[in-house]
Amino acid sequence: QKLKQGLSKTRHEMGVKINTVLGAYVKIDDEMLEDIEDILVSADIGMQTTMKLIDNLRTTIINEKVNDPAMVKPLLKKEVKKLMNEDLDTKICDEKPTVILVVGVNGVGKTTTIGKLSNKLKAKGKKVLIAAGDTFRAAAIDQLKTWGDRAEVDVIAHTEGADPAAVIFDGISAAKSRNCDVLICDTAGRLHNKANLMQELEKINRIIDRGYPEANRETLLVLDATTGQNAMNQAKTFKEVSDLSGIVLTKLDGTAKGGVVIALQSELQIPIKLVGVGEGIDDLQEFNMDSFIDAIFD
Ligand code: GDP
Repeated sequence: QKLKQGLSKTRHEMGVKINTVLGAYVKIDDEMLEDIEDILVSADIGMQTTMKLIDNLRTTIINEKVNDPAMVKPLLKKEVKKLMNEDLDTKICDEKPTVILVVGVNGVGKTTTIGKLSNKLKAKGKKVLIAAGDTFRAAAIDQLKTWGDRAEVDVIAHTEGADPAAVIFDGISAAKSRNCDVLICDTAGRLHNKANLMQELEKINRIIDRGYPEANRETLLVLDATTGQNAMNQAKTFKEVSDLSGIVLTKLDGTAKGGVVIALQSELQIPIKLVGVGEGIDDLQEFNMDSFIDAIFD
């Protein structure tokens, strides 16, 4: 329900506008498909994904000899689903012990997401620990501690400027000795220096490699939905420097750029696992593709 409310602006840019176009035509033609194409591009689905969608839609319309404009929307939704790939695994790892590395640039909602996720996992009966691996800013450590208090989860932290890998190392030791189910590790997100970022993540990953088998690991990239295609660019860069197992898309409440969800998942083939729908501790939801598609198209 909250997702649906949050996506009302995107729905207005997409579903509602498509309805208007469909209502203006008595039969399907190229001009109509072009109108729909324009709507998809302006709703932040991105050029590449939109072209694919429209091409696939056109092929289906020709092959199945569809004439009725009323059939276009259900067919379009089907094509979106296919492109987004239903087979991607959207579940957060449930092995014991799990380590979740959280990456993303500053300001996207990384700290908030870690707080919400800790709370969510705790509610499922998991014992959770947080490692404050963003040592670049003292404020980041403090904010994370505040969220730790809110979720009633301990935070392993060093001081500002400490080696992030050392913090993660201590986090792993503490998680083991306390028999935790999940360790969530924050990282610094300084994209302007890609070489540094890669080095830092590689070092952290080497330490995690020693403590956790592949199947027990998640690397979640946090992206801000309100930045639209910019989120897509960040995702491409992070994909180059680390293996991502999933995306968390924040601030889906109230953005008109929700279409970026489709672009992200279909172009990168990385599952969106969680979505942020507000600033509160409960405002993090598991991503459900069907509800999402219904919410923006209907
Ligand atoms: P960080 O720098 O990536 O750690 O970002 P923060 O977690 O500090 O979040 C930056 C701002 O975004 C804060 O004001 C958060 O309250 C806000 N924020 C985070 N997630 C969401 C969300 O899902 N919805 C909304 N509306 N705001 C969010």
